[in-house]
Amino acid sequence: MFGNSRIRREGQGVHNRDPVADLLRKLKASKTLQHITNITNTSKIMAPSLEDTSVSNGVDSYAKSPATRVVIPTPIHPTRSLQFLEKLNGEGNNTTHHPLQAKVKLRVGIVGAGLGGLSCAIALARRGHEVVVFEQATKLGEVGAGIQIPSNSARLLQSWGLEPFLGPHVVEPDGMTFRRWENGDPIGYTKLVPDFRENFKAPYYVVHRAHFHTALYERALELGVTVKVASRVEEYDTAAPSLKLANGEEFNADLIVAADGVKSAARKLVLGGKDAPVRSTGFAAYRATVDVEKMKADPELSWLLEKPSLNIWIGEDRHVMTYTIAAGKSFNMVLSHVDATDPLTWKPETAIPDMRREFSGWDSRLVKIINMIEKTIKWPLLSGPALKTWIAPGKKVLIMGDAAHAMVPYMSQGAAMAVEDGGALATVLSLIDDASEIPAALESFEKERIKRGGAMQQASLLNGKLWHFADGPEQRLRDESMRPEVEGRSFSWSANQWSDPVTQWWAYGYDAEEEMEIAWARDQESTKSY
Ligand SMILES: Cc1cc2nc3c(=O)[nH]c(=O)nc-3n(C[C@H](O)[C@H](O)[C@H](O)COP(=O)(O)OP(=O)(O)OC[C@H]3O[C@@H](n4cnc5c(N)ncnc54)[C@H](O)[C@@H]3O)c2cc1C
Repeated sequence: MFGNSRIRREGQGVHNRDPVADLLRKLKASKTLQHITNITNTSKIMAPSLEDTSVSNGVDSYAKSPATRVVIPTPIHPTRSLQFLEKLNGEGNNTTHHPLQAKVKLRVGIVGAGLGGLSCAIALARRGHEVVVFEQATKLGEVGAGIQIPSNSARLLQSWGLEPFLGPHVVEPDGMTFRRWENGDPIGYTKLVPDFRENFKAPYYVVHRAHFHTALYERALELGVTVKVASRVEEYDTAAPSLKLANGEEFNADLIVAADGVKSAARKLVLGGKDAPVRSTGFAAYRATVDVEKMKADPELSWLLEKPSLNIWIGEDRHVMTYTIAAGKSFNMVLSHVDATDPLTWKPETAIPDMRREFSGWDSRLVKIINMIEKTIKWPLLSGPALKTWIAPGKKVLIMGDAAHAMVPYMSQGAAMAVEDGGALATVLSLIDDASEIPAALESFEKERIKRGGAMQQASLLNGKLWHFADGPEQRLRDESMRPEVEGRSFSWSANQWSDPVTQWWAYGYDAEEEMEIAWARDQESTKSY
């Protein structure tokens, strides 16, 4: 049997073969694993069975003869050549997952109502858990303007019922164009529409952060989540587990998830008292928006707004990522540049002239837009070290999101990884039969997510290397590798990680919930065999 997601996974498995996982995939595909793991959500698994298919040599009378029926075994090689079978099964729009209700209903406390904490709350609540989120801020909100929601995250969010809340606010860019720093000439191109929807079964969105955050908040409330503001968590009891707020209030739970961001206090606890803080990468970014009406009025700039798209200018030690947000009303910009100085010394009043100086001499049209910026915030670009664990001793308190895997924003995947964390955690907890299995479920979660989050941290840093070459041989070779995608020629690899087929399927084709099911089944099997 084949499922669309299985085909996807095998495609991405080109560079990540695991014989045990393969065996389990085969078992799962043959339904046997459903008995092993009690996986009841078959909607993603089933598709036409090759084993059940009669294959003739093309002559009708032969096809009717049992003697000529050929049974084709389930392929185990990585392939995406079978996608037509999904279509045959009408699985093209895989957006309506049925939540698998958890067998054990847990009481879960989440620390932090950022994009990560709220996503996790939704993922857990839709499986039937009781969820309370504690946020230290007195008012909910998000700093910064735009954010990209790549398909690997959008697929989960859609299946969690976010579309009605996000739909009115998102923009779906047509494609992403890499541009040469000095004149804006296209040097790389990734077609997003319709390719990403077709291949990865979900759109690639961009949105205003505030809209994204509000959508998550509203969906969380709809699912019965309690969100408490002005609730700073000051103490954890990792054995109970329980937490204590600054006002003295205590909360007992079956599980505590700390999604408390880059400066996470819980991380130190998880690491046994010695924190592994996030590090400066020597880069900073100015974040700003420009009113599109101003740009539309300028014939030199209006072409940028003709259709929704992402445009990124890249040059030595700098790049500028742009796209429209707020349903096309606002032009979002992230201007990255080298800056290893201490953020405490940054002066908001000099930010605008400093930013203009950083990009003087760049494409005159880009400079024109930069000159339209009236307000900006400078942000340090940080990356977290690889952590050996995400779970506190006692195995009932864990960290996730930026607290666990802060990354530079060059793959636009930081929040997407937090969404995946939430999906994976909710999935593994829905597969346990008893609360005593929570530690084992967390261990399985940690193994899978440390691998994925760590790889995305590395992929993000790699973009910093690829994009920031000075003009010279490396830059020319990079641009050469991306030329086919600009000219519409076929290619099998690219220095553009949005386009490179292997990276693309790994980044956007990954299904965090399904991979977690497989990892849990594999870990259960290996425990049994000891
Ligand atoms: C310039 C830039 C561009 C980016 N672009 C993208 C993008 O396009 N796509 C993408 O996916 N990601 C992007 N990211 C990354 C993304 O913004 C983060 O990964 C994401 O917001 C992290 O969410 P979080 O919930 O883990 O952490 P946070 O957003 O930091 O939330 C943590 C929350 O915990 C609360 N908190 C902390 N301590 C306590 C406590 N003791 N008690 C109670 N509450 C507490 C905080 O107040 C906060 O609300 C970008 C990042 C940057 C800097």
